[in-house]
Amino acid sequence: MAASPDFIAADDRWSTHNYHPLPVVIAEADGAWVTDVEGKRYLDFLAGYSALNFGHRHPDLVAAATEQLGRVTLTSRAFHHDQLGAFCRELAELTGTEMVLPMNSGAEAVEAAIKVARKWAYRVKGVPDGQAQIVVAGSNFHGRTTTIVSFSDDETARADFGPFTPGFVSVPYGDSAAIAAAITENTAAVLIEPVQGEAGVIVPPPGYLANLRRLCDERGVLLIADEIQSGLARTGALLALDEAGVRADLYTLGKALGGGIMPVSAVVGSREVLGVLRPGEHGSTFGGNPLACAVGRAVIRLLATGEFQQRSATLGAHLHARMGELVGNGLSAVRGRGLWAGVDIAAGGLSGHAVSEALMGKGVLCKETHGSTLRLAPPLVISEADLDRGIDALAEVLAEA
Ligand SMILES: *Cc1c(COP(=O)(O)O)cnc(C)c1O
Repeated sequence: MAASPDFIAADDRWSTHNYHPLPVVIAEADGAWVTDVEGKRYLDFLAGYSALNFGHRHPDLVAAATEQLGRVTLTSRAFHHDQLGAFCRELAELTGTEMVLPMNSGAEAVEAAIKVARKWAYRVKGVPDGQAQIVVAGSNFHGRTTTIVSFSDDETARADFGPFTPGFVSVPYGDSAAIAAAITENTAAVLIEPVQGEAGVIVPPPGYLANLRRLCDERGVLLIADEIQSGLARTGALLALDEAGVRADLYTLGKALGGGIMPVSAVVGSREVLGVLRPGEHGSTFGGNPLACAVGRAVIRLLATGEFQQRSATLGAHLHARMGELVGNGLSAVRGRGLWAGVDIAAGGLSGHAVSEALMGKGVLCKETHGSTLRLAPPLVISEADLDRGIDALAEVLAEA
């Protein structure tokens, strides 16, 4: 039987080098645990960047996918099928919105939201043709397409990929005065992550999101919340914006919406805004396919119970209490919401990558977001004992550094 180095060598030889993975080769997974090709087990403290909020192979999700595999998987949107309307209605009801635009990846949902906001600006707000602007925040992460990297300030994500798409204005995250100053009569939307995931689980200052809502209302601008990573129970609420008591005009959802089984994303929002799209103006061969809708509906059923939001809040309080004890003992700062933490390793300590490798040696998988910042995002199904096991391993790694 081939061992890990053989698989890693094959990846290195045949797969493009656009990632720097840890040297673990996963063969199987269940709940919060994965098993490598040599039979070694690891706790998953990354959960597919929150695509695996319900853990690996949640039985309800696997059952829904399996049942749909036995019926119909793909029709294209040239025809109706019997899952689409139900998926859209259930997702709208869950999120308190009126309409759903189904897509596949997160980046596609963001792209779709940008197109919808621009068309709304021209057709409803009356912005002159070609002049619409979208205000975004520094250190954002919204995906990897050419338009989206056009308004990223991550040089690694941008360098050599221009020319870039115009029409975006970037201001520092967490600064609502800067947003107010950036809005003009041509502004279509403010696009924001309610908590910035890739940047290191950055929670904005109190009042920021409510201020954005007020500014958008006053100036006739759409508020677009990218909840692809923060949404669907990760922060302890269905949507991170819910905790601020704020509603967006459009939300982008993805990652956990596919239950860790397949890519499922969506833009959800008001009929006034999403209703601007007419046939032929936007689409996707795979968006809203029967299999995706069936899996998405099973995800919605799990979220509708509130159980996962509650688990995230309860286990998250425990995680943050324990992480707080490590500040000054190897960590310089901890941030986050629910079962989601960005932890900064103290200066002079190990790099984020070195800590991730050391944790792997102790049977816990996580990944640096960049430099010396780690993101902890265990699946929401994790037991408290397993959560403690992972935290103990991190404390050991920091103590041994
Ligand atoms: C992951 C992510 C995306 C992009 O999703 P993909 O499915 O990788 O295209 C967009 N926005 C946020 C906030 C994300 O975390």
